[in-house]
Amino acid sequence: MKTIGLIGGMSWESTIPYYKIINEYVGKELGGLHNARIILYSVEFGELEKYMSAGEWNKIENVLSDAAVKLQNAGADVVLICTNTMHKMFPQIQDKLTVPMIHIADATGDELERHGKHKVALLGTKYTMTEDFYKSRLIKRGFEVIIPDEDDIKIVNDVIFDELCCGIVKESSREAYSRIITKLKDKGADSVILGCTEIGILIRQEDSVLPIFDTTVIHAESAARFALS
Ligand code: GLU
Repeated sequence: MKTIGLIGGMSWESTIPYYKIINEYVGKELGGLHNARIILYSVEFGELEKYMSAGEWNKIENVLSDAAVKLQNAGADVVLICTNTMHKMFPQIQDKLTVPMIHIADATGDELERHGKHKVALLGTKYTMTEDFYKSRLIKRGFEVIIPDEDDIKIVNDVIFDELCCGIVKESSREAYSRIITKLKDKGADSVILGCTEIGILIRQEDSVLPIFDTTVIHAESAARFALS
């Protein structure tokens, strides 16, 4: 079995599901007492969030590249960045490694394709929703990607940073997200990407009128499949 390297801690609330999902997948495939080989490098998100707000992405790139190289040197056969937003620096980080990384949007695209989806709604941080680094990967594959309007982008983003990343789950935020997903369905979306690794803590399938594609689950399971391949 190959060893999975995780760059986690962004936030740590969403790193817990990664650990659980990967081990459950391997346990189910291999049975008995089997679980995955995982090395976790958990970064300090408070520091990185300050850089993000200040637009100092080069500083984040340095921290994440350093973590990725340390994981590789420790024996990781594959490296995952356990957040959608930080995939902004994916190409630069992959360049520093000889082992492969799994891009969260590529894994999600594979899953959307498998389910025959075409017009996808994207929820995530304001960076993931409004910038090109994430959407372009899906658009290149032929997906149409739609995002909430300006007011709703703010709601979705604020709930992530002010609540979910701090472990706070509010019913009112669940209702707000559900309303926003319904609006995106009305605009023609056939599915919704939970494009932030904390959203799955808040939104379950029964909260959404669209089929959900939870990037945490998809990314973690793709790593488990890679480890067993
Ligand atoms: N975990 C979130 C994501 O998947 C947001 C935290 C971050 O900015 O990395 O995008």
